[in-house]
Amino acid sequence: MSRDLAKWAKEKGVKYFMVSFTDLAGAQRAKLVPAAVINNVVEGGAGFAGFAAGFVVTPAHPDTLGMPDPEGAIQLPWKPEVAWVPANCTMEGEELAQAPRNVLRRLVAEAAKEGIRVKTGVEPEFFLLAPEGDKVADPWDCAKKPCYDQQAIMRRYDMIAEVSNYMLDLGWEPYQSDHEDANGQFEMNWKYDDALQTADKLQFFKFMLRSVAEKHGLRVTFMPKPFLQLTGSGMHAHISAWSMDGKENVFFDPNGELGLSQKGKHFLGGIMKHASALAAITNPTVNSYKRINAPRTSSGSTWAPNTVTWSGDNRTHLVRVPGKGRIELRLPDGSANAYLMQAVIVAAGLDGIRSKADPGKRLDIDMYQEGHKVKNAPKLPLNLLDALRAYDKDSTLKSMMGEDFSRAYLEVKQREWDAYSSHLSTWEVENTLDC
Ligand code: ADP
Ligand code: MG
Ligand code: MG
Ligand code: MG
Ligand code: MG
Repeated sequence: MSRDLAKWAKEKGVKYFMVSFTDLAGAQRAKLVPAAVINNVVEGGAGFAGFAAGFVVTPAHPDTLGMPDPEGAIQLPWKPEVAWVPANCTMEGEELAQAPRNVLRRLVAEAAKEGIRVKTGVEPEFFLLAPEGDKVADPWDCAKKPCYDQQAIMRRYDMIAEVSNYMLDLGWEPYQSDHEDANGQFEMNWKYDDALQTADKLQFFKFMLRSVAEKHGLRVTFMPKPFLQLTGSGMHAHISAWSMDGKENVFFDPNGELGLSQKGKHFLGGIMKHASALAAITNPTVNSYKRINAPRTSSGSTWAPNTVTWSGDNRTHLVRVPGKGRIELRLPDGSANAYLMQAVIVAAGLDGIRSKADPGKRLDIDMYQEGHKVKNAPKLPLNLLDALRAYDKDSTLKSMMGEDFSRAYLEVKQREWDAYSSHLSTWEVENTLDC
């Protein structure tokens, strides 16, 4: 039985609902609806002009309706008279195939056909900047090796603890926050959940983090590489798959290599097989490619992968197996769309299971130091165009993500690449003026 949102609002003292959907770029767009009429919106949807919201439709298309998913409603801990509710987009009574939350919901249903529930945890890394966005907010946060810097995180205690307390109250089971490997960079962790719930939580987390940071006069960025010499921001995903009743981790086998079952190995095989193509989703911006394939940063390591290789508890590869029965994909970055990155993980993994894909031999070397010794290790895409072409060539992944979605996504991203390419940069002028 679905939650009665009007009744729920009354009980909680909620006056407004932020009916929110996520667009192709990963941004959240919303309408603020008075609680007294929320059940009309649950029935009939909130109307949006899809073209204005960045979907690949024309201005002449009928409205995109945001249909609230009542189970996903969350009261804003920092503004309790408002509740956020994720919406599923429809058009003329049909689900809009290109809407990211629909893509993920469809893949969750596909996984259920295989009898599995994919559960994931994400690791959001972000920078706290001055309001103008041009520098790290804390001028004292300038250590050469700033990872886990105790004093620097203490200077942000009020803000970080406020967000952590809210997560505790929401029952997300946060368990740590730390200063990361770049000056001004932090990470906050909470417990893994079903892929759709993790995506919803990540969107809400971003909304909450930004709102609280703004109150403290800070600007948050998830941009993958805001400062060239510093370590970039990843959005690693930890992945396992469970029986439908949630009782058994089907990736776990105490006798398997690194505690991974055959099913887990096939899922991993699917990730490896589709890695270059799925980068178009997990690393979706021009800036993403300054984080992967990057030169060493001032801290000594980028912590980002360059090749399609996997390993045990070793952070220099695309996939790390940090513990029994789960894998960590280290490719996604802070600009990844919360829903699409989960969807593409499920899509690639499911194809791996269905085709019994072999991940190949694991490598236990330091990929940064000894990578050159490995023959034939596939390289990740070098830029966004490279990734878009790899995605376009991968017909299996494209169809699993949905043909309509894939067409729309490639169109939007190609436009982004074209806009970038037509920009005349200082570098070009400096290097070509006297040619
Ligand atoms: P690290 O920095 O070592 O990569 P973190 O502790 O920052 O790891 O993040 C680990 C993430 O993995 C968390 O979101 C955690 O809940 C999640 N996780 C732990 N076990 C599993 C599992 N079995 N399946 C999916 N995610 C998991
Ligand atoms: Mg209007
Ligand atoms: Mg982490
Ligand atoms: Mg980290
Ligand atoms: Mg990690």
